Amino acid sequence: MREDNCIFCKIIGGEIPSNTIYEDEEFKVILDISPATRGHALILPKKHVANLYEIPDETAGNVLKLAKKLAIHMTNVLHCDGFNLLQNNNEVAGQTVFHFHMHLIPRYKGAKNDDILYYTHETFTPEEMSEISESLKTD
Ligand code: AMP
Ligand code: ZN
Repeated sequence: MREDNCIFCKIIGGEIPSNTIYEDEEFKVILDISPATRGHALILPKKHVANLYEIPDETAGNVLKLAKKLAIHMTNVLHCDGFNLLQNNNEVAGQTVFHFHMHLIPRYKGAKNDDILYYTHETFTPEEMSEISESLKTD
C-alpha cells in the first residue's frame, strides 16, 4: 500500500508537494522535478509497487491507457512534435526512485534536448542473435 521512506508515496499522500496534472482513484500524475523537456511528467500508481516486475496486470494495463490519453492531451496543449514513454527497472537500468513510475516525455524539434537517446547500440553476430532469440521464445 504505502511504503515508509518512499518519496512518491509521500507525494501521493500529500506530505510532499508536487505539480499534479491528473489524479484519479488509481493514479497521480505529476511533473518531474528535474525535467528532461518542458512538460516531462510521471504516472504514479497510488499503491506502492517497486517496479514492473511487481505491478499487478490490471494496473499495468491501465498505466498504458492513461499514458496514451495523456500523450494525446499533452501533445495538444504543448504542441510537441513527438513523445517518449520511459520506464526504468532496477538501478542498472537507471531507476532511482523505487516506486513504479512511467515517464511521459514530450519531444520538441530543435529544442536543447532534441537528440536524447536512452541507449547506444551493441553488435551481435547472426549466430548470437539466433541464440538469443531461441532462448527468448515464449508462448
Ligand atoms: P527514475 O530514474 O526512472 O527512477 O526516475 C525518477 C524520477 O523522479 C527522476 O526523473 C527525478 O527527477 C524524479 N523525481 C525525484 N524526486 C521527485 C519529486 N520530489 N518530485 C517530482 N519528481 C521527482
Ligand atoms: Zn511508494
